[in-house]
Amino acid sequence: MNSRFSVPLPLRDVRVTDGLWAREMDLIRTSVIPYQWEALNDRVPGAAPSWWAHNMRAAAKVLRAEKAGAARPHTGGGSSMVVQPEDESRPDPDAFYGWVFQDSDGYKWLEAVSYQLMLRPDPALQRQAQQAVDMICAAQEEDGYLDTYYTLTGRENAFSNLRDHHELYCFGHLAEAAAAWHQATGQDDLLSAARRFAACIARHFGPGKERGCPGHEIAEMALMRLYEETGEEAWRDLGRFFLDVRGEEPSTFALEENRRRAASGLPPLPVTAARYVYHQAHMPVRQMREATGHAVRQMYLCSGMADEARLMGDGEMQAACRRLWHSTVNEKMYVSGGVGGTHAGEAFSRPYDLPSDTAYSETCAAVGLAFFARRMLQLEPRAEYGDVMERALYNTVLAGMALDGQSFFYVNPLEIDPAACETDERLHHVKPVRQKWFGCACCPPNIARIVSSLGQYLATQNGDTLFIHLYAAGEIRTVLNGGEITLRLDADLLQSGNTRLTVLSGEAEGTIALRLPGWAEGASVSARGKPAREEDGYVYLTGRWRAGDEILADFDMPLRAVAASPLVRETLNQICFTRGPLVYCAEEADNGKRLHLLRVRPEDAEKAEAFTAEIGGLPLPAVRLPARRVTVPDEAPLYAPWKGSETEQTTLTLVPYFAWNNRGMGEMRVWLPLEAGR
Ligand SMILES: [Zn+2]
Repeated sequence: MNSRFSVPLPLRDVRVTDGLWAREMDLIRTSVIPYQWEALNDRVPGAAPSWWAHNMRAAAKVLRAEKAGAARPHTGGGSSMVVQPEDESRPDPDAFYGWVFQDSDGYKWLEAVSYQLMLRPDPALQRQAQQAVDMICAAQEEDGYLDTYYTLTGRENAFSNLRDHHELYCFGHLAEAAAAWHQATGQDDLLSAARRFAACIARHFGPGKERGCPGHEIAEMALMRLYEETGEEAWRDLGRFFLDVRGEEPSTFALEENRRRAASGLPPLPVTAARYVYHQAHMPVRQMREATGHAVRQMYLCSGMADEARLMGDGEMQAACRRLWHSTVNEKMYVSGGVGGTHAGEAFSRPYDLPSDTAYSETCAAVGLAFFARRMLQLEPRAEYGDVMERALYNTVLAGMALDGQSFFYVNPLEIDPAACETDERLHHVKPVRQKWFGCACCPPNIARIVSSLGQYLATQNGDTLFIHLYAAGEIRTVLNGGEITLRLDADLLQSGNTRLTVLSGEAEGTIALRLPGWAEGASVSARGKPAREEDGYVYLTGRWRAGDEILADFDMPLRAVAASPLVRETLNQICFTRGPLVYCAEEADNGKRLHLLRVRPEDAEKAEAFTAEIGGLPLPAVRLPARRVTVPDEAPLYAPWKGSETEQTTLTLVPYFAWNNRGMGEMRVWLPLEAGR
């Protein structure tokens, strides 16, 4: 039964009860999902319309009329990225509005809803979701095509601009939602819609057919998931085709652009792939060594590559995944697990360019990094993947949503001065407070789908070995060697690194493997009577497990001073503080204004006094430690001969980074300068 690779457990078999994560999941269910449904239906006063429900209804109406013999009202279009009505109060009921990728908003919502339904039945929510599913199915064309933008603006132009128009991106989100909905409800309706659209795409693209690949990746991993859900190899093979076409010469993006240019009487452009760095289509993916371009796309691409490596036993692809992993986490990742340092193209910058204040670090990119990390763990259980997954989840992903679930960050800086955000053009993308919703609403639904499916990140299984990757409290049910057992994981990383895994019921023979977190300075893992061995940062305990058996894991979790590589210009002579998986920050609410005047010493981490800060209704682990503050003389001249800076004693208060900006607008800093002379 042992395969080489591990897979997540069914979501129903991992019940997360953790004080932090269960609360986040509840917020998604009670706040984010209902709000987003209203947003999809354009019923949120003051918010820009999504047009999702409008577009689905319009496509269904046009398709019904066509069946009855009517011609489509709009053809020949399909060249714009966003369509706005002339008069928002009187939209044309047969027209498409919004961004070209707007269909994906509803799919992401359905995916998150499906996970929530697996965690806990909710007939009212399921009825609402069924309504969405019915709307989607009604908007599907006879041949399986499903994209309201082209159905409503000019179907004859479908698949003519894969680079920009996100049809395959929308398909990917449809397939992800369909697999989740099928798992949640057992229903085939959305899965059949996704399979029919996949078949339509496969008739168009593939070996011996047209070459092409998605401009915004996700279809690759979604096709792998569709294969895993249905067992139909055609979807796996199509996913692999998209991966292998990407970056080949001549560039399919250039060829399709030249076809569009020819239609407008313009001369062709060079067809070399090299100029498609932003799209990760500048070289064949198997040769890639550096994470580049749009960060979310890069992370989704890596996730699809890792799935392909696992499902096809493709060692060459796995090697490329390892190289891209190294580039991402060892040269281009923030200490908060955010990736994509520059707002120019929402992209990866050059190695070690990790600015704190102009950071982009999109929430979705951190979600994508967690996707990638989980897939690398499936390929090979090495603690470094779990460490990064945990770092992204506990810091940037959590920071993306307010503690009341009502507002969201798209961009996650590591330093902020609200006054600068107002006046500095270089910071135009950085918001000093979370926003209610976005016109391009990618991040909130991405938080909703990853948080709701946290159970799939907590544990995976390979044959008779159960891997515990994350220490969030919960219950896990699984079958090892034919014996079913239920385990309870007691953990609270907000408080300490003491964790306990108890067999609640059942009996089974097998191995339980626990990740040794990279942040644990000392760690002990033991279970009475079970021999333990350690490999690549996992402790493997093997034996016969019976009710009452316990694994005790003790991970030391002191406050730690952390420095970045000296190659990171931005943070030279600065440190930040971390405890367990949490990165800490200083906020104006505790430390006053002008946080750049603070000076810290690494050894003062040992003098830190822990206390509980009540932030956003959540008791959080905060710390106070001695620090210095540079004094500013009255009427200090702008320049003066150097005399050394005067400092005074102060107390520095640090709170978890994920909780920043839950107490009003103010300055925030993760990295703090060292006291002079260091
Ligand atoms: Zn986003």
